[in-house]
Amino acid sequence: MQAPALCGRKLVLSAFGLITLFLSFVGFDLWALNSRHGLLGAGEVASEVVDVWPLALAPGMLSILASVAAFALLLTFAARCVWRAQRQAAAQLCLQRNIFEHSAEAMLVTNQSRHIVAVNPAFEQITGYRAAEVLGHSPDLLSGLAREPAFLAEAWARVAESGAWQGEVLARRKSGDIYPTQIRIRSVRASEHDPASHFVAMFSDISAQKAQESRIDFLAHHDTLTGLPNRLAMDLDLAKMVAAATPGGRQFAVLIIDLDNFKTINDSLGHHAGDQLLRKIAVRLQLRLASPARLFRLGGDEFAVVLDNVAHTDTVVELVQQLFLAVSKPCEINTRLLHISPSIGISLYPGDGESAEALIRNADTALYFAKAHGRNNYQFFAAPMNAAANKRLSTESELWDALALDQLRLDYQPQIDLSSGQVVAVEALVRWQHPQHGLIQPSDFVPVAEACGLILPLGNWVLLAACRQAKAWLDAGLELGEIAVNISALQFNQPEFAQSVHAVLLETGLPAERLELEITESTVMHSADSSIKVLAELKKMGIKLAIDDFGTGYSSLAYLRRFSVDRLKIDRSFVADVESDADAASLVASIVLLGSTLGLELVAEGVENAAQAEFLRDRKCQRAQGFHFSRPVSADAVVALSDKFRRVRLSG
Ligand code: C2E
Ligand code: MG
Ligand code: MG
Repeated sequence: MQAPALCGRKLVLSAFGLITLFLSFVGFDLWALNSRHGLLGAGEVASEVVDVWPLALAPGMLSILASVAAFALLLTFAARCVWRAQRQAAAQLCLQRNIFEHSAEAMLVTNQSRHIVAVNPAFEQITGYRAAEVLGHSPDLLSGLAREPAFLAEAWARVAESGAWQGEVLARRKSGDIYPTQIRIRSVRASEHDPASHFVAMFSDISAQKAQESRIDFLAHHDTLTGLPNRLAMDLDLAKMVAAATPGGRQFAVLIIDLDNFKTINDSLGHHAGDQLLRKIAVRLQLRLASPARLFRLGGDEFAVVLDNVAHTDTVVELVQQLFLAVSKPCEINTRLLHISPSIGISLYPGDGESAEALIRNADTALYFAKAHGRNNYQFFAAPMNAAANKRLSTESELWDALALDQLRLDYQPQIDLSSGQVVAVEALVRWQHPQHGLIQPSDFVPVAEACGLILPLGNWVLLAACRQAKAWLDAGLELGEIAVNISALQFNQPEFAQSVHAVLLETGLPAERLELEITESTVMHSADSSIKVLAELKKMGIKLAIDDFGTGYSSLAYLRRFSVDRLKIDRSFVADVESDADAASLVASIVLLGSTLGLELVAEGVENAAQAEFLRDRKCQRAQGFHFSRPVSADAVVALSDKFRRVRLSG
């Protein structure tokens, strides 16, 4: 396609050419006629000249003159056009040279026989070769790996065939470095039908782009905290293994590892300490594993191991024992020695599932069972577990009915003042009177309610029922002290929690100082600052506050002082061993001592015999609660019990 200006110029030149030609012919004809006149006599000529000069001589001469003028014009115009075209061509060439010289992309031009004839400065910069070193050589000297020359030959063949090719290849710098490039090759032909006279290759170093891509890929498939491959990576690995498996071929195992009580550590010592612990555990697990086992972090405190080529389950058990050793070794975080144990669920391919999803789901179910059976142990998946998992789901839906159909009830366990032997408080403990399964204990349904959020309406029901009962006792002139109600973390962390407690007190008419809320250490340590606010609000209303199961978390006594609590309930696991274990005895004694120094009242939980009660009384622990005094009983029974204790005292 020619430029319109050029076409116009050609048109004008042709027109001038034609006019000149036409005028030349006319002029020549007239001149010839004139010449014929020249045969006339001199006198005739003289008179004809005088008479017809303007008519006879003028046409020929004029035409000749006009054609000369037109020719001159034509020449001038043509010269101008040539000069202008040359100037434009020079400018075009200069522009192309500039582009070639200043392009950020490396460019190389080869001749037909593929010998380099030109390279630009970007080429020198990227490849490290100077132009003089490559001119006349084949571009093959730039190719990276052994496979690349063949690959490039194929690419050249494509260029020869279709005129262009582009793709990614590895190239080699003069220094020997290999780097990835994005390359485009085009052939240059004089016309469509001519063979290629040259080839132009343009390429850039895409190392940075490749590094960015692989970083994004790494982040998508790895966990940032531990650097381990993540759940997505595991899904992909498992899917590949499943796809490659042949019937009756290799067996492989999926192990899901969950750290017991990690949440307590996280809540008590903060997320930073939790992160440190996870990193340490990740390193330890990794050190215990050898190929073909692969470690992943699934999120939170969950890790997974995929073990390929499992000939026998003994191999898995051996590995599990190694993992237990790795995790159970005490771990020092912020100068504290933390003891942590794992629970592990295991599924095997193909017996426990023929897809990645089924294997993970079943290993998860097995893990749930390992936890339910006392933690710090492992379980291989077994089909009946799925039935149990379904049961958990049905418990959840039955619990909704329990609330709606009034199947919940409260039992009360007294707290005894160790110096007077009197009932000074009662703890309300929820039970589920199931129409088919009979009485269900809270440990069998409170965790389910907590997991599905049902603990919110359930907890509210307990608070309302307990406060109503306490007010009824007050109205009846029965003195049972405070009513203690257990509060779950989810309840406590509701933004309107303090107001909802206030509303219950208003509704029931129970004086605030008669209500005690029991909260666990991990509940208050979780987002400690907002807990301080909520506890202060409750305190301002006059409500008493107790830390339940004290000693099972990781909070220090001094730290707890910030929470303005009134009582600490020493967990029954410490009380159980005070007679037999000197360490437990000195631990309980020092909790009592430190607690009193901080102005906190101590309640010992799980007191099962007189010796334990004696020990606690001697250490000046104020209150005790446990089977030694009474099991949790109905409202009427606890009143009778309180009467009995009073009569014993009066008679004593
Ligand atoms: P907790 O608050 O520590 O309650 C004390 C638990 O220890 C009660 O178990 C009680 O029966 C048991 N216990 C008391 N004395 C002894 C003893 O001498 N020896 C032994 N071995 N055990 C003793 P229970 O009623 O099964 O409650 C278990 C847990 O369920 C409670 O522990 C509490 O965390 C939770 N829970 C109970 N009721 C509620 C409730 O209404 N709301 C919430 N959120 N949790 C509740
Ligand atoms: Mg309690
Ligand atoms: Mg307790």
